[in-house]
Amino acid sequence: MNVPLLDLKAQYASLKSEIDKSIAEVLESQHFILGPKVEQLEKAIAAYSNCAHAIGVSSGSDALLACLMADDIGPGDEVITTPYTFFATAGAVSRLGATPVFVDIDPKTYNIDVDQIEAKVTSKTRVMIPVHLYGQMADMDAVMRIAERHKLIVIEDAAQAIGAEDKGRRAGSIGHYGCFSFFPSKNLGGAGDGGMIVTNDAARAEKLRCLRAHGAKPKYYHKIVGGNFRLDALQAAVVSAKLPHLDDWTAARQRNAQRYDKMIKEAGIPVTTPAVVADRHIFNQYVIRVSGRNELQAHLQKKGIGTEVYYPVPLHLQECFAYLGCKSGDFPESEAAAKQTLALPVHPELSEAQAHYVVDSLREFFDKAAPAMAGAQTQAGRQ
Ligand SMILES: *Cc1c(COP(=O)(O)O)cnc(C)c1O
Repeated sequence: MNVPLLDLKAQYASLKSEIDKSIAEVLESQHFILGPKVEQLEKAIAAYSNCAHAIGVSSGSDALLACLMADDIGPGDEVITTPYTFFATAGAVSRLGATPVFVDIDPKTYNIDVDQIEAKVTSKTRVMIPVHLYGQMADMDAVMRIAERHKLIVIEDAAQAIGAEDKGRRAGSIGHYGCFSFFPSKNLGGAGDGGMIVTNDAARAEKLRCLRAHGAKPKYYHKIVGGNFRLDALQAAVVSAKLPHLDDWTAARQRNAQRYDKMIKEAGIPVTTPAVVADRHIFNQYVIRVSGRNELQAHLQKKGIGTEVYYPVPLHLQECFAYLGCKSGDFPESEAAAKQTLALPVHPELSEAQAHYVVDSLREFFDKAAPAMAGAQTQAGRQ
């Protein structure tokens, strides 16, 4: 059986006419840059995220970059985030000449360990970027308490967490800014690159609108240096057509996750399943923790099951960040997660039969291929 990590063809087939119609409207209008389709999506995402303002941008990466620019972050400034995230989170900081300062993760949720943040705050710290990894929100109460105490700006990296919730609040609505990505593999993906920033701060929203068009206001009068960070109308058309289905897809992802949890537990398979601590985990990824991860991944690949390692090298050990002077052992939980985690297919189109096949294949690995590893993992799971 073939079980892809993601099945975008099946998703497209299910709403082809809606997407095609929305794209056709843009083509008919020949209005490709910003315009009504983008404004319509901005309103819809602002409402969906419980925020006053939404600004369409070119990608999740540019969303992070523009937020940092809007608060004039640059050389001499420090920005706290985790090393266990997609590169863009820290890349945006570094591109502006500011310094990423890493804080290790909580091994249960893979999100920033809020108890370790304050030890890293200095007089140079300006911003914190909590990442809502895999679709579950970081502990935002703690983050905001620290932010208030030290007068820090908070940018929620919600690229994997659109619609995630905790204590009645949506991802992106708590910090000064929330950043979303419409990269095709995200829960709400476009037909290319795209992103959105949400904020409740009118002045910041205004500045972001200016920054995304080279800092011009009005056209050809540049008060500040921005960039071309605009969301194009074709992407907005695709994302707008998909948005009404997002809650159903999220429910299907949650159902798949619960199904895995139950089947893995009942089969006694020695892997650690995801810890759900927030109210609404949207399962952009369903990530298990296992020793012998690489062998398991190879086994699943042979069985036709798509998996992925998010992320094999924590950011503090990336070559381009060598200048930060971090070394192996500095962030042990991030390093352990990088060695032990594996994402299984959890997409909305995953069938019950496919989920059974994935779990049977997991069991087969531990029964036959690696009984020794099963023992080792039970130990790791107890830590
Ligand atoms: C995908 C992602 C981004 C970047 O989004 P792009 O749209 O691909 O630029 C940033 N942060 C995290 C955590 C992501 O998963």
